[in-house]
Amino acid sequence: MSGKIALEEHFAIDETLADSAAFVPEAYWNELRSRLIDIQDGRLRQMDAHGIEMMLLSLNAPAVQAVGDIQQAVELARRANDFLAEQVVARPDRFQGFAALPMQDPDAATEELTRCVRDLGFRGALVNGFSQIADSEDLLYYDLPQYRPFWHAVEDLSVPFYLHPRNPLPAHSAIYAGHDWLMGPTWAFGQETAVHALRLMGSGLFDDYPDLRIILGHMGEGLPYSMWRVDHRNAWVETAPRYPARRKIADYFNENFFITTSGNFRTQTLIDAILEIGADRILFSTDWPFENIDHASDWFDAASISERDRRKIGRLNAIGLFGLEDLISDAGASLRAAE
Ligand code: MN
Repeated sequence: MSGKIALEEHFAIDETLADSAAFVPEAYWNELRSRLIDIQDGRLRQMDAHGIEMMLLSLNAPAVQAVGDIQQAVELARRANDFLAEQVVARPDRFQGFAALPMQDPDAATEELTRCVRDLGFRGALVNGFSQIADSEDLLYYDLPQYRPFWHAVEDLSVPFYLHPRNPLPAHSAIYAGHDWLMGPTWAFGQETAVHALRLMGSGLFDDYPDLRIILGHMGEGLPYSMWRVDHRNAWVETAPRYPARRKIADYFNENFFITTSGNFRTQTLIDAILEIGADRILFSTDWPFENIDHASDWFDAASISERDRRKIGRLNAIGLFGLEDLISDAGASLRAAE
């Protein structure tokens, strides 16, 4: 399929490059490193070769979320966002931006998101899970009450928020002790991010701000497969929900969440996601450079779904969610007409 738009696509700047080194064996680091720092060269060639018209770019992980010093987190986010803005300006028809945010300080995060959307033209934020502050045991999950003004601003700015994974800290990883292979994309990323998303849903956040739109990668981090069970535990026992939110968890998942195919190239899983959340709320992504663009595209282009759903998931949903209509090139339009 030509004209695809992909939105979990990462880059690194010098200060965040090392954060990605542990995710591949040492022999592959040179390749991953060069993929992360390249934007306008090999990346574009791969996009051209595999029918990707546009990428929405985001910083690698955990990056800003793991910077314990608040001022340093603020400065790192600004540097990364300014760098990304220059890359977008060079090819706005091929690249758009997600803001990195210093969530350690909700006011600073609000200020930076506002700057990125209003001044730099970014399309939303991508945040790598919980944030940490030096000398504090507390992990900052964004259902906490101090983030309500931030979410109010996100709703006002009318941009989506991509909740991207990070690993749990060693002090919170007892279940993985001795089983390091389960860290990262294999399992811990999904578990960590799914629980964070459930916290947001149960907190009542979406009762207060019903127009918030949260994006999850990796086909929803396991949530589509488990959503019925979340709402139906001991269904024979009549009790009120034990969370502050007013509605069933699945209601928030279906109305406030979008998911992407990043790093989860499996037709059976996609079909389950279509059955749970619907093809209008699923968007194509690759998770470059941690996953291959050809693996993502070859799978998606041939997946056994309707052509109408392929157009929605591959392209049209992203145009609508991010308001990309004006950026769609004539070339993209002719490619569409040719199909
Ligand atoms: Mn990713």
